[in-house]
Amino acid sequence: MDFIDLKAQMAPLRNRIDARIARVLDHGGFIMGPEVAELEQRLSAFCGAAHTVTCANGTDALTLVLLAEGIGPGDAVFVPAFTFVASAEVVPLTGATPVFVDVLADSFNMDPASLDAAVGAARAAGLRPRMVVAVDLFGLPADYHALGRIAAAHAMIMVADAAQSFGAERSGKRVGTLADYTTTSFFPAKPLGCYGDGGAVFTDDGAKAELLRSLRVHGKGGDKYDNVRVGVNSRLDTIQAAILLEKLTVFPAEIEARQRVAETYGAAFSDMAALPVVPAASRSVWAQYTLRTPHRDAVIAACRAAGIPTGIYYPRPLNRQTGYADYPVAPGGVPVSERLATEVVSLPMHPYLSPAEQQQVVVTVRGALDPAKTG
Ligand SMILES: *Cc1c(COP(=O)(O)O)cnc(C)c1O
Repeated sequence: MDFIDLKAQMAPLRNRIDARIARVLDHGGFIMGPEVAELEQRLSAFCGAAHTVTCANGTDALTLVLLAEGIGPGDAVFVPAFTFVASAEVVPLTGATPVFVDVLADSFNMDPASLDAAVGAARAAGLRPRMVVAVDLFGLPADYHALGRIAAAHAMIMVADAAQSFGAERSGKRVGTLADYTTTSFFPAKPLGCYGDGGAVFTDDGAKAELLRSLRVHGKGGDKYDNVRVGVNSRLDTIQAAILLEKLTVFPAEIEARQRVAETYGAAFSDMAALPVVPAASRSVWAQYTLRTPHRDAVIAACRAAGIPTGIYYPRPLNRQTGYADYPVAPGGVPVSERLATEVVSLPMHPYLSPAEQQQVVVTVRGALDPAKTG
């Protein structure tokens, strides 16, 4: 059994992907070829954002947003402590200060109360609150209503790190339209992945989209030999765009299939572990299916014995990482993030998980969580 089975996904798409790649080899436009613009149009149509700017990866997508907003020394950027390191690592690279905010245990997403407290503390410490980077952890959009209100009250830019949630929804709106900027990743294991690195920024602001397009090609003006600002080199390869164009055609069906796996897990484990909670009017894309249990070692051991892969996302909150230990943390710390790091375990989750495989996971995990065995 695979944690994420990319081969099962590729099999029915293989001929179409091969043909798409062959077309790129024929036309030879490997950098910013026609597939890149076509993909950007399709992604905008899919999620409802006015503008899509693709780039080299999901980390660069965040970097481009920070550059577009001129984030730098003295600025505070608020990031959840419980996330993948990329959400925070782009901040110190600009000279700005990441401030770690706690998350909510039931959604794994940024806690508005902790953000509110962290903004006050950052200001008191002499930092300028400039930006909130909320993360849609494991595929569920954060509470942009509550977080956006706090951001607006302090004239901060609201950014959604949607590396794990492209395709999800909140209040009838698709991810890509829930914040001033939304960033995503097409890393192979993400819900919509390519066969290498890739990323994108979504925004409704046309002027900012133009700025992002300049920043991703060396701060170009008329062309890349006309450099009107300091930029970076962060383009999506044409071949990766071609692959994504084919993968996008099956993505809606894959989202449905992920939802069915999540429902099977939810029904099977509701009496034995704390399950991810999806608010009414939200849809997760289930990048991960993550349980909380004090018996996670038993779950992992039983799964290993049965040949079922599991993962711990994430074993340490970012404020506990050596490279990030000196940055400020919300007043009162991040106790929920600290606790989650000791309790979470993620189960195999992908659209091609067969009913038999799901049953095997259910039986194995239930066996491990049986109170008679785990005490
Ligand atoms: C994967 C991921 C990223 C980074 O994406 P890359 O394409 O690997 O650079 C950023 N944030 C989160 C939450 C992620 O899961």
